Amino acid sequence: MKTILGFNFSNKTALIRVDFNVPLDASLQVADNTRILSAKPTILKVLNDGGSCVLMSHLGRPKGNQANLSLSHIVSEIEKILDKKVTFAPDCIGAETESIVNNIKPGDIILLENLRFYSEETEGDVAFAEKLSKLGQVYVNDAFGSAHRNHSSTSVITKFFNNKKYLGLLLHKEVLAIEKVLTTGKKPVIAVLGGAKVSSKITIINNILGKVDEIILGGGMAYTFIKAQGGEVGDSICEYDKLGLAIELLNKAKANNVIMHLPTDVIAADSFSNNSNTIELDIFNIPKGWQGLDIGPNTRKSFAETIINAKTILWNGPMGVFEMTNFANGTKAVGQAIKTATKKGAFSLVGGGDSVSAVKQFGLANDVSYISTGGGAMLEFLEGKKLPGIAALQQNP
Ligand code: AMP
Repeated sequence: MKTILGFNFSNKTALIRVDFNVPLDASLQVADNTRILSAKPTILKVLNDGGSCVLMSHLGRPKGNQANLSLSHIVSEIEKILDKKVTFAPDCIGAETESIVNNIKPGDIILLENLRFYSEETEGDVAFAEKLSKLGQVYVNDAFGSAHRNHSSTSVITKFFNNKKYLGLLLHKEVLAIEKVLTTGKKPVIAVLGGAKVSSKITIINNILGKVDEIILGGGMAYTFIKAQGGEVGDSICEYDKLGLAIELLNKAKANNVIMHLPTDVIAADSFSNNSNTIELDIFNIPKGWQGLDIGPNTRKSFAETIINAKTILWNGPMGVFEMTNFANGTKAVGQAIKTATKKGAFSLVGGGDSVSAVKQFGLANDVSYISTGGGAMLEFLEGKKLPGIAALQQNP
């Protein structure tokens, strides 16, 4: 796979697919600029070579042309981050846009209007991809957050850039981070998985069972594993149709010599509320009327001990209902342990919406090695799927 580092962009116009699908606040200002900051190294590499950039992205899920989802709202934030003027093209294809791009000079940056104002984008329409392809001499994909999509701008377009398609620096960093967990990382490699449901993580657990040394399983999905082994989980969240599968996964772990750590105690509540009454209980003996909403103190301690000795760590999913302060301690303890392990030299990758918010909420964002910018894309990568946006850069039509 070729990254942009192997190409000199001097006097070339790079058409860069970025992921500027950023949250906007009520006054349509950028509420979190992480994704723009993450694309900066790629844009600067092109400009420093003496090239120019045409940036394209989607924003939200518009139905046709929707003013509140115009990328014009983020122009000033990009200008602030890059400290450069950005020209906005009010359409992402067409004669007017082509003429704006034809006047581009080295050092210039053009941002195209929201790609998804055309339904052709998500349909993977070839003619639409061809129109986009006219807007650059070299194609760069730096949109990890959209790499699992087979859309016109993320994969279909590459057929018009035969040998002139490159991986951006962010996309490359994301791929390297996941590969560290799945193949190249130092042992012991540990996956810390949490979240509400087993059903949404089955494929990941299945795929990583042959690749990691230990798995820590917390959060709501742990109760399905406990019930499957004959435990009483009371009113805890439990997928009764997945009990057989839970046993299969435990057996597969054993067969692969993967140590599976499940919680031993929980903080149980008498209702799903931060104001509920709480007690500490053995996870195998939760009576009716009570539900486990966080891991208990013994589990916090044992999970932390395991994590601290890891050399490579993947974290996806909270250990409890961390959005409520009374059930955030387990997730916080795991975050702190990952911080300690990272300080000791481990590589830690955090990905998936809820664990990223947890890391930010607990002020640990600078204490982990890498935070993935793409939730869905990272999960599909971990599931062992080939991401269309990455595969398209490897193929030669
Ligand atoms: P997911 O999107 O599958 O990663 O799940 C994240 C959600 O799981 C968060 O909103 C948590 O509040 C929720 N969660 C974690 N632990 C529990 C639990 N013990 N009971 C119910 N929900 C939980």
